[in-house]
Amino acid sequence: MHTHTILHPEREIVSYDVSAFSPGEGYASVGIHPWMLTEENANSQWEVLQELVQDKRIIAIGEAGLDKLKGPSLELQTNLFRKEILLSEAKGLPLVIHCVKAFNELIQLRKEIRPQQPWIVHGFRGKLPLAEDLLKHGCFLSFGAKFQVEAVRNTPIDRLFVETDDSGIPIEDIYQNIANVRGMASGELIEAVNKNVQKVFLKA
Ligand SMILES: [Zn+2]
Repeated sequence: MHTHTILHPEREIVSYDVSAFSPGEGYASVGIHPWMLTEENANSQWEVLQELVQDKRIIAIGEAGLDKLKGPSLELQTNLFRKEILLSEAKGLPLVIHCVKAFNELIQLRKEIRPQQPWIVHGFRGKLPLAEDLLKHGCFLSFGAKFQVEAVRNTPIDRLFVETDDSGIPIEDIYQNIANVRGMASGELIEAVNKNVQKVFLKA
């Protein structure tokens, strides 16, 4: 089963590929992961996604996005990603983004479509200038086990998420690492991220 996780001690959010959707107790995000997309399944994946987003447990669309190292042609990825952006807008659900080596394209899409829904770039490992560029364009950044220290340090606290992805590392350890880098207590960071989860994902 292909899942990537944005995990939180109190409110877990698991992201599923449409081909592997089987939500548990927690909140779920569902999208067409570029790694799972093919020319053959593109239409059926899209059909399934449109059905799944009717489910009340779905609080976000994603992972969705662009990956230049893995998956089908960038053209196909972009076609599906555009549809998912519009679906996120139509349903009023935030978008959890998987992006590898396609940040220029991502920012172009953002400039062109001007989405109202929050965009969360998951598993962000980029350096500070890229982080600043994404932040300037209104994105949120989600950090996991591996990150660039300067990027973590300079991300405003209200634009930051913490995730395990599929690292297998306990979320508490990741919180601790990120808190250390930012010179704050882990509990303080958890509280801040909790607020962001409430605001961005639960619209509370
Ligand atoms: Zn990903």
